[in-house]
Amino acid sequence: MDLFSKKRKIKIETTKKDSFSGWLKCTHCSELIHANELTQNLHCCPKCDYHYRLSGPQRVELLADKDTFVEHFNEYRPADPLNFVDTEPYSERIVKAQAKTGRHDAAMVGVCKMNGRTVALGVLDFSFMGGSMGSVVGEKLCLLIELAIKEEYPLILVSASGGARMQESILSLMQMAKTSAALAKLNESSIPYISVLTNPTTGGVTASFATLGDIIIAEPDALIGFAGPRVVEQTTREKLPPNAQKSEFLLEKGMIDCIVNRHDLKDKLSLVLTFLTGNARIGVKQSEPMPEKLNKILEISGKKAASGMR
Ligand SMILES: [Zn+2]
Repeated sequence: MDLFSKKRKIKIETTKKDSFSGWLKCTHCSELIHANELTQNLHCCPKCDYHYRLSGPQRVELLADKDTFVEHFNEYRPADPLNFVDTEPYSERIVKAQAKTGRHDAAMVGVCKMNGRTVALGVLDFSFMGGSMGSVVGEKLCLLIELAIKEEYPLILVSASGGARMQESILSLMQMAKTSAALAKLNESSIPYISVLTNPTTGGVTASFATLGDIIIAEPDALIGFAGPRVVEQTTREKLPPNAQKSEFLLEKGMIDCIVNRHDLKDKLSLVLTFLTGNARIGVKQSEPMPEKLNKILEISGKKAASGMR
């Protein structure tokens, strides 16, 4: 299964109407790049390194060891108890989003190996109604957190979201409190939680579980904030500084802990988990040999610690 070769969400430049030439124009640097090159480069522009969005399954493929991800709690389906209608009924929006993504809702949660260590992994898929958090997303995340507590798995959540799902009104806002309460329990159990923020992470997701990580990592140049820049400017009637609400700005202001390039994300997560657990074997059964990759990461971290590097 090679999900990186499937969907392209980048402006396609082609002279022929119906056939795709394979050449794309980067929406960030305007350079011509080939689709294959982009796919091989984990959907980062080979010229300017702009990180394009990944779908839920692509994110799982990036982080989980091959064929180790077991999806959990996939039986939950969104409901429309408020019979909400804006420009179109919520029930119809759900059906469309499900048809477009082939998924029941925006969250994908499960257990997998990451460089040999077992972790609880949850990802939000922006292509499903902007990765918005409704009751199903909140419930699945909470069930995953409870599983992490029970089985003592480290938790990693990767966000890409426009925030709470407005079509579920107060029911979606309640998910902010619910996920935060579940994470408080995880914290009491001394189980590490790393939050990964990708472009974009905004609204009620930023205001709840996404910014509650023991360590908060962001991808480069990701938009991260509560209200979007336009709304902030209209409300405050002030111009925001350039790059405000981008990862680099937030790192400078101390809102996040580090920015990690997508190519290094998996190994960096493993390294951080090693530091946080203080026990390299957490997530690796005593009866199993230490995975080679994890051993290497430990060696590097040991050397860094010995030389006084942070
Ligand atoms: Zn580019």
